[in-house]
Amino acid sequence: MQANVVTPDGSVFDGHVEMVSVKTQDGELGIMANHLPLVTPLAIGAVRIKKDSKVQLIAVSGGFMEVRPDEVNILAESAELPSDIDIARARAAKERAERRLEEAKRDNIDFKRAELALKRAINRIEVSGTKQ
Ligand code: ATP
Repeated sequence: MQANVVTPDGSVFDGHVEMVSVKTQDGELGIMANHLPLVTPLAIGAVRIKKDSKVQLIAVSGGFMEVRPDEVNILAESAELPSDIDIARARAAKERAERRLEEAKRDNIDFKRAELALKRAINRIEVSGTKQ
């Protein structure tokens, strides 16, 4: 089947694949050819695309997946291949978010926003294959 991953900035992946696994709000979901048509929101997480028996990881920060019998389209808020992830930036974002979460406990500021920023940073660090 065909898999496409696009963001507002353009295409991140486009190719013929064996399987696509994503993280939805309800958990992991694996899609192979001839799956029932479906549209589902995505969580912050890794998309795993199996192509030529190898797995390509992509860090995705939410969006939607549309499944058709021979096609999977992922419309992501952001999506990066491991080689495009700036690890220093993700580590800095993680530290900033952790600091804000601490402050949020004290001052009741935007806890949810800091929590999502932390999830995005951890996801990028994991997908890049480096240690936290
Ligand atoms: P930051 O605080 O570092 O901007 P963020 O999680 O708030 O992180 P997003 O709003 O999710 O960033 O993404 C904004 C744009 O920057 C997107 O195009 C995304 O692909 C890109 N981006 C964010 N962090 C990284 C990173 N560590 N490496 C490469 N690209 C990144």
